[in-house]
Amino acid sequence: MFDVWKNVLAEIEQQISPANFATWFQDTSLVTTKDGHVIVGVKNSFYVKQLRARYYDLIEKSLKNNGVDVKDIDFEVVCKTKNRVRSREVTTPKPIKEQIRTIRDKTETKSRSDGLNPKYTLDNFVVGSNNELAVAAARSIISSPGTRYNPFFLYGGPGLGKTHLVQAIGNALLKDNPNYKIFYTPISHFYSDFIDAIQKGKGKEFNLRFQKLDCLIIDDFQFIVNKEKSQEEFFNIFNDLYQLNKQIIITSDRLPSQIKTVDERLASRLTWAGAFDLQLPKFEDKCAILRAKAELIGAEIEPEAIEYIAENVNTNIRDLEGEFSTLLLMSEVRGLTPLQLIENGSVSVNKTSKHRPTSPKQVVDKIAKYYQLTSKELCSKSRVSNIKNARQVAMFILSEELNLSTNKIAAEVGVKDHTTVMHGIKKIKNDLKLNFLLREQIDEIKEKIYG
Ligand code: ADP
Ligand code: MG
Repeated sequence: MFDVWKNVLAEIEQQISPANFATWFQDTSLVTTKDGHVIVGVKNSFYVKQLRARYYDLIEKSLKNNGVDVKDIDFEVVCKTKNRVRSREVTTPKPIKEQIRTIRDKTETKSRSDGLNPKYTLDNFVVGSNNELAVAAARSIISSPGTRYNPFFLYGGPGLGKTHLVQAIGNALLKDNPNYKIFYTPISHFYSDFIDAIQKGKGKEFNLRFQKLDCLIIDDFQFIVNKEKSQEEFFNIFNDLYQLNKQIIITSDRLPSQIKTVDERLASRLTWAGAFDLQLPKFEDKCAILRAKAELIGAEIEPEAIEYIAENVNTNIRDLEGEFSTLLLMSEVRGLTPLQLIENGSVSVNKTSKHRPTSPKQVVDKIAKYYQLTSKELCSKSRVSNIKNARQVAMFILSEELNLSTNKIAAEVGVKDHTTVMHGIKKIKNDLKLNFLLREQIDEIKEKIYG
């Protein structure tokens, strides 16, 4: 009977991804097949539900292919050491760390000539208040590339999903049209390939290769070097593609105008069609991302544990994922659930940005100075438009960056009540959607506050 299961597993392994196989089938066994009532042993109750929902048909088919009479299949939790049969590849259990690494390697090291990694999709990109505009633009590009959002300029701090989102656009375009010629490259590779081509006397070929593309994706544009020649080459390629209505996608950790090494003409061209940013996720966004990750890898984690991580990681999504994996790993190693680990104090997560402005007053001072006002003017009752605007920006930043309540903000900026503050914040939020200059100003202010 155990041999049968080995064969069944071998068959299933051919049909699903290595990551899914390792996640769902590694610890399964065949308990009985009496009178067509098949019972499959699994690690815990979470697997019962998931295997039934996702793989019932596949298991049934593979059992039948291996001569088992199947009327129905049930899944039962069996204790770890009992009845365990593994497929050939995994006869000796690997430490969990190694397992995770293997899964990761299998999905990440595929290097394709178009530079795209199929693991980044829109399906596994969680949409929240931090990224909804950028995702809407991404969807629009997928349905009509090279039109409205061309070039598509996406910016935001490290670990907020830039690479994921632009790779997802590339993968979706390719799925819709397999002949579409896409090329993804970090700017640093573009630069070194260019130098290489020049040294080999193949500058022309280099240029031609790019001209044939339907879509060019340049990642981490902030690393563009201050070498005239390579910037000029990039500019030429950019112009050629743009004139042919080919889609150009660029990511950067900041706006072009804030990158000192960039030629002004190029900088302005990159944001011709606007600029979209990825923001830090809010609490709800973080919870949604963690729930999706758990679902994806089939991990069991209590809602309270998810909330705990979301509350305590305030840096970026990469760190959020990191803390989440560590917790799951420890849970596996220690044999305790994530929440138990948190409650008994075995883990404590605390990831907060290094940059913490010291006080609301300092923030208000810096904003006033940025707009060439005194703090007293900013906090006055003046209705003069530039002063009013500075005051509203201050309300917005105190709320977004310091998480102050509207009542507190009212006191800080010298307005009577919190509804004025709510109105001010809403106004800035709305303006930000369309007013590109304002976005730039707020970014610059943040740099002044944190810098
Ligand atoms: P960046 O390029 O901005 O530094 P990445 O695209 O590498 O960031 O994202 C960091 C990690 O966070 C990646 O593993 C990515 O899959 C994940 N991630 C970022 N945003 C999301 C999201 N909205 N939903 C799901 N995963 C996300
Ligand atoms: Mg990146």
